[in-house]
Amino acid sequence: MEQLKQQLQAAGILYKENEPLSAHCTFRIGGPADLFVMPRDEDQLCQTVQFCKQAEIRYYLLGNGSNILFADEGFRGAVIDVSAEAAGMGLSIYQNADGDYISAPAGLKLSELCKFALQHGYTGLEFAYGIPGTVGGAVYMNAGAYGGEMKDVLEAVSYLTADGRWVDSEASELDFSYRHSAFEENDACILGAVFHLEKGDPDAIKARMNELMQKRIDKQPLDKPSAGSTFKRPAGAFAAALIDQCGLRGYRHGRRKRQALRFCGEPGRCHLCRCAGFVRRSARHCKGKNRLRSGKRDPGREIR
Ligand SMILES: Cc1cc2nc3c(=O)[nH]c(=O)nc-3n(C[C@H](O)[C@H](O)[C@H](O)COP(=O)(O)OP(=O)(O)OC[C@H]3O[C@@H](n4cnc5c(N)ncnc54)[C@H](O)[C@@H]3O)c2cc1C
Repeated sequence: MEQLKQQLQAAGILYKENEPLSAHCTFRIGGPADLFVMPRDEDQLCQTVQFCKQAEIRYYLLGNGSNILFADEGFRGAVIDVSAEAAGMGLSIYQNADGDYISAPAGLKLSELCKFALQHGYTGLEFAYGIPGTVGGAVYMNAGAYGGEMKDVLEAVSYLTADGRWVDSEASELDFSYRHSAFEENDACILGAVFHLEKGDPDAIKARMNELMQKRIDKQPLDKPSAGSTFKRPAGAFAAALIDQCGLRGYRHGRRKRQALRFCGEPGRCHLCRCAGFVRRSARHCKGKNRLRSGKRDPGREIR
């Protein structure tokens, strides 16, 4: 760890020690990370990953922390805050014979990308406005909502492979499917993404973005700690309907309550094992009757 800290200092990369992870995820759960590193641009991000590998320190890539459940014990190693990177990186637009493209850094908030597309009159990303993640986090799990998903508009992704190579891949090579991409298996660090968008009517784009945001405000407990939907949508069914059929609407375990059917929110302090256990029990209960699959893995347990 000392070697890593020295390398970070020498490279001018900011970090904090013993940083509580509860402050960096929407569940607001999680103990301290030994090191919380904040690379401010792509070069620093690549350097940080390399330094961790050289020093044989385990690391975890964090976007906006909106799809993560950290362990109560925290993280022994370095959590790399990719969202800090967006501060030093810009968005750009380019055109070629095939159409128009927006290139975005991995650490940028999706909402900023959507607003940028609107500003420049591009349609295609309206569905993503309101998903509280970064570009990298959204690519990682092929985030989607209201009939759209990242893969629909994604042209290419640049990333650092597990063995430190910089690669640019077309989206078609990255095994995208419902809430899945190759990044869930390949240990790569997503650096940026290119989106292929069409020109549209800015008033219509804005109206659609506002309409979808309003739907979220009306239906989701956005003020409560959560990671959004807890269950994947099973083929041919809806998680909310299955939960309802099982009589689990509003079910409470301790102080946790299934908010808005699919969300698990907690108004106060909560522990990983209780929260994860609650989700698993609910999924098992439904599975017995309706074969509901628990969609999200438990990142607190799979941390590298
Ligand atoms: C209120 C609420 C509503 C939500 N609504 C939706 C919705 O409608 N649709 C939807 O799909 N999701 C939704 N989510 C879940 C979440 O916003 C998405 O999954 C989002 O894409 C996660 O992005 P993030 O930047 O927060 O990723 P994080 O939670 O920080 O990380 C998620 C995973 O991505 C990995 N990762 C992050 N950045 C990188 C990178 N640069 N390179 C490699 N790996 C990386 C992390 O290691 C981790 O495994 C919602 C969440 C909340 C709290």
